[in-house]
Amino acid sequence: MLLGYRMRTQTTNYIARLFAGDLSAFGGPATDEAVAGHIRAEQMSLVLGYSVGIMLANACNAIVLAIALWQSPDRMPALIWAAAVAGAAIGFGLQSHVARRITKPQFVSRRAMYRLVRNAFILGAAWGIVPVAFFADASSGGQLVITCLCAGMLAGGALAFATIPIAAIAFTAPIFLGIAICLGQNGDLAFLLIAFLVVVYGSVLLRGVFVYSFSFARRVMRQIEAERTVRLDPLTHLPNRVAFNETLDAALKRLALSGEEFAVLLLDLDRFKEVNDQFGHPAGDEFLVQVASRLQRCTRAAEHVARIGGDEFALVMANLTRPEDALEIAERFVAAFSEPFQIEGRQMVGAISVGIVLAPRDGNTPLDLMKNADAALYRAKKVGPGTVRFFEQADDKSSRERKALQADLAGAIARNELFLVFQPFLDLGTNRITGFEALLRWQHPSRGLVPPSEFIPVAEETGLIHEIGEWVIRRACATLADWPEDIRVAVNFSAAQFHNTAILQTIVQALADARIAPHRLEIEITESMLLAKYGSAATVLNALLELGVTLALDDFGTGFSSLTYLRKLPFSRIKIDQSFIRDMLVQPDCAAIVKSVISLASDLRIGVVAEGVETTDQLEYLRQISCDEVQGYLISRPVAADGVMALLETKKYRAIYAA
Ligand code: C2E
Ligand code: MG
Ligand code: MG
Repeated sequence: MLLGYRMRTQTTNYIARLFAGDLSAFGGPATDEAVAGHIRAEQMSLVLGYSVGIMLANACNAIVLAIALWQSPDRMPALIWAAAVAGAAIGFGLQSHVARRITKPQFVSRRAMYRLVRNAFILGAAWGIVPVAFFADASSGGQLVITCLCAGMLAGGALAFATIPIAAIAFTAPIFLGIAICLGQNGDLAFLLIAFLVVVYGSVLLRGVFVYSFSFARRVMRQIEAERTVRLDPLTHLPNRVAFNETLDAALKRLALSGEEFAVLLLDLDRFKEVNDQFGHPAGDEFLVQVASRLQRCTRAAEHVARIGGDEFALVMANLTRPEDALEIAERFVAAFSEPFQIEGRQMVGAISVGIVLAPRDGNTPLDLMKNADAALYRAKKVGPGTVRFFEQADDKSSRERKALQADLAGAIARNELFLVFQPFLDLGTNRITGFEALLRWQHPSRGLVPPSEFIPVAEETGLIHEIGEWVIRRACATLADWPEDIRVAVNFSAAQFHNTAILQTIVQALADARIAPHRLEIEITESMLLAKYGSAATVLNALLELGVTLALDDFGTGFSSLTYLRKLPFSRIKIDQSFIRDMLVQPDCAAIVKSVISLASDLRIGVVAEGVETTDQLEYLRQISCDEVQGYLISRPVAADGVMALLETKKYRAIYAA
């Protein structure tokens, strides 16, 4: 009894699996439900593709049969049968024609498949009735027509349902059964031979259906796999940009159809480049993988963070009822970085900034939304690591402005719009000019003179700083070649320039071309730059020092841990930031700082330059407290290259500023 029960449950199980499109029990490929649903969708769309033609053929066949049986005693039942079959076929054909126009679904449920199989069975049963009910009393012509129809229906049905074995069986089995009953009622040898042939053809047909359906299922699976690969980021296993764009498109479609609002969160890792530079790419990769899993844990179940660039992630938050929900998720993203990361046995601190746009408020095209999200992110990053910002209309203006400036700056060197001006350093001991700082200027054809504070950040963001920085070095060295031997030139360096070791080659070449001693070239770096980039800057900085180039620490006092760097790097000079010089005569604490920096520097045997000296009082005070050199409008504003020689030759500085 137990055996019987077990066999019954096993059979039911087989049939259920066959129904569900799982062909593994019959030698086909094994699938999980998600893939099976996708395969069912493909099968269904193929059958729906044929169905209009098939239904027309059914209606046609039913009418032909009615005509063939016109003379038979079964005329009336045959007519009723034909009308029912033709009517149902036309109805179903029209219905599937409409269904075909709706977009193909990605997933079809088991239930929909059951319905298809049931309909196939009903249609097959309708045809199975024909040989049983009408064959015996039909004329020999009528019998020939019934034989042809049954054969045609068997072959056509198997062909139409070739990808779905269970539907092919459901359709053909009743016809086989009808034929079997019909032939069995008649003892004629010819009919027995026909029965034998029907069994042979049926087996071949069924075998063909299974083989074809297996290969079809395998093809669909390969296609699913290929599509999955195209949409997946191989490193983090998050959806990639392709998948993100599709999600965004789908959200925009829903917005257009039903007004469903949504948010896009654009995330950018803060200082990821440094992680890569300091710890190497494998550690950078591991960091990204851990970041991905932390981010994914912050989202709602059905939503997936996508990795859309090196260190850029994005999320579409569908069905947004309150903007606060987007803010809440964004804050969760930021909070996910509060714990340090453990990478290759080391602790790494990370942070992420987030820009948020709301659709339709901030745009209703992918381009607008992403552009605005980018602008919001830009503003967030400017505030500092771990910041969240919603898009504001003002962002749009400033981002357009930035883009325009970027585009113009790209061609500025080629169009000869950049030039250098030089501002002297005055030695307070000798009252002589010891050198000049090269300061970059951009003469824009319509904007006029653009200050470096505006275009240097743009150049840094776009990477144009490398080209521009190289140009500055070459031009400064070439200009220096015409100056007396004891005069130096100081060139400002951006943090980004240390990412590119090619700058070393440029410097070597520029010094050689201009035939100048390396110690006459001074590189100015700011302490905030060192703070952010020390790790990655070390290689280039050390190579520069080996070359004999000197280093100055610019804007001293505006960063935090400068003293550490004074020990780490052999600076030749510290430049005290102009904010201290401006206030030192009115604010005692500023004076105290200036004094102690000067005495510290003298202990360390490092030269000191006071920046931004504008009054003789400031100059005199600096002289009293033994500052080495001064720079500022009082001595000279930055002058064009051809004004340098005139400045050097003017003796009036000695006269005016001598003690
Ligand atoms: P910085 O290196 O601290 O340059 C000193 C700035 O102070 C210059 O502004 C200079 O004109 C200004 N200055 C000099 N004396 C006085 C004074 O007495 N009073 C006042 N109020 N200002 C004075 P500038 O030329 O606008 O440059 C601004 C910043 O842009 C520079 O600060 C530097 O960080 C950056 N920069 C300039 N040229 C380059 C360059 O070629 N490459 C890079 N990466 N940055 C540059
Ligand atoms: Mg400077
Ligand atoms: Mg400075």
